Amino acid sequence: MRLHVLPADGIGPEITTAAIGVLEAADGRFGLGLAYEYDEVGLASLAKHGTTLIEDVFQKSRTLDGVILGTQSHMDYPHPSKGGRNISAAYRVGYDLFANVRPARTRAFLGKGAPGMDLVIMREATEGFYSDRNMHAGTGEFMPSPDMAMAVRKITAHASERIVRRAFTVAAKRRQKVTAAHKANCFHLSCGLFLREARKVAAEFPDVAYDEVIVDAMAALLVRQPEKYDVIVTTNLFADILSDLASELSGSLGLAGSTNESDLFCCAQAQHGSAPDIAGRNIANPTSMILSVAMLCDWLGTKHGRPEYSKAAAAMEQAVDRVLTDPRSRTLDLGGDMTCDAFGKAVAETVAAGN
Ligand code: ATP
Repeated sequence: MRLHVLPADGIGPEITTAAIGVLEAADGRFGLGLAYEYDEVGLASLAKHGTTLIEDVFQKSRTLDGVILGTQSHMDYPHPSKGGRNISAAYRVGYDLFANVRPARTRAFLGKGAPGMDLVIMREATEGFYSDRNMHAGTGEFMPSPDMAMAVRKITAHASERIVRRAFTVAAKRRQKVTAAHKANCFHLSCGLFLREARKVAAEFPDVAYDEVIVDAMAALLVRQPEKYDVIVTTNLFADILSDLASELSGSLGLAGSTNESDLFCCAQAQHGSAPDIAGRNIANPTSMILSVAMLCDWLGTKHGRPEYSKAAAAMEQAVDRVLTDPRSRTLDLGGDMTCDAFGKAVAETVAAGN
């Protein structure tokens, strides 16, 4: 299979290199037969082509089997009309990758984070409050006057139904519990529509428990009793915020992998941002990217009926834990002094050695 690798900005290139090293080790052990196509996106592309994502690169991904997308420094991008195209949004909308799957779990041996947490946040990724993707034409954010700015939130039955259905499918293979986070006490119509669809889908899964929690309470409950939750499904912005909370509760923002996926296509992407404060110093934690790539492998294994890909994904995840167990092999965010590339190499060697 051929993967499109787009390292992007900030710590993106460092963590992507580390993750590809681990994937190559998994390929060697499980005979995945992977090939890689590299392309520049983000600030490097902006400097060369005047846009952070050229159309050729974006379309090329369609000819390949999956995408590995590094982190992007959106805050440094110019306005989209001047070439600052939001790459994540382009893929989520253009490839209809409606499910942003964001697992987070604590590892007792780290001695950090919220004890007993093991959950997945299912984030709807194509609409909501995101003005760059919630309109057919134009943008969902506008200024009627210099001192007034407005943003429109879009919630559809279609997008709500499919993310909730995917959440139930994920929960059915885990601890069989779905929690819908919402703010229907204020957003009666939009969160109300989301809940209407969630309840319809829930009725089709009698073996999976279902409850609803108001999103602000959800934030507090995640801190207080994270172990109670299995799969949390919610709209785009709420999930973005809750998932950063959950990954920090797991011990570090650098620990949680994620994919953007549909039934047809999948893009691995670390949960965190481009961390400009530590970029280029070889101190980032590449775990999130390694685990994102493992999730992509698992998705490919399921889609193409290739169990060796799912075995490779499990081996990569186990190897990360094995390496993290030793306090000497942790990056700065976890209180260690291991470099990003040394951590990647240690995980790759562990995968190659058969864990
Ligand atoms: P962006 O504008 O790209 O979102 P940001 O710095 O605002 O960047 P994050 O990149 O998510 O947001 O980073 C938030 C904090 O977490 C920063 O202090 C960053 O250094 C740290 N951080 C994020 N990812 C990692 C990582 N993989 N390893 C270590 N620290 C990280």
